Amino acid sequence: MTSSNRHADRRSPYVFDVLELGRRAGAMKEIQVSLPAPADLGSDVIAVPQDSEIDLNLRLEAVVDGVLVTGTAAGSYRGQCARCLDPIEGEETFDLQELYFYPGHEVDEDDNLVVDEAIDVEGALRDAVVLELPFTPLCDPECPGLCQECGFNLNEDPDHGHGDKADPRWGKLAGLLGTDN
Ligand SMILES: [Zn+2]
Ligand SMILES: [Zn+2]
Repeated sequence: MTSSNRHADRRSPYVFDVLELGRRAGAMKEIQVSLPAPADLGSDVIAVPQDSEIDLNLRLEAVVDGVLVTGTAAGSYRGQCARCLDPIEGEETFDLQELYFYPGHEVDEDDNLVVDEAIDVEGALRDAVVLELPFTPLCDPECPGLCQECGFNLNEDPDHGHGDKADPRWGKLAGLLGTDN
């Protein structure tokens, strides 16, 4: 996101023409389209799989300084529980809101611009997904994770333990001290 003389990548399905809005403040255009998800949409631990379907429901509205995009992107995500490493998947609707300035406007480095009478909403989609998907995904808020001794998934047996190695009296003491085992 740098200079204003870049060109819109017309091959990207996430680039939409805004020519018909004619820079008339108040002019509006609605877009409803299903598109394949771009690569790396999310983080290492949770993401929208590449090429999975994203349902975009956007409103493009000409405002004084540019084009305001609001709407939603619905799609599925896949990831891994940060505690037990089990796969996680689900559906999510991401909220998008982004202003694209007309060229000639004083802009900051990371401002979005209307380029060649088109806007590229992929960055806005990326921001929305990263913002809304959990930083530390969990299969369940109460997930007990893995046994620290053997790596057994404690979701499969909450009573999992390693026998009576410890003297039960010590176990009792540990209990009083508020520690596990
Ligand atoms: Zn888990
Ligand atoms: Zn164990």
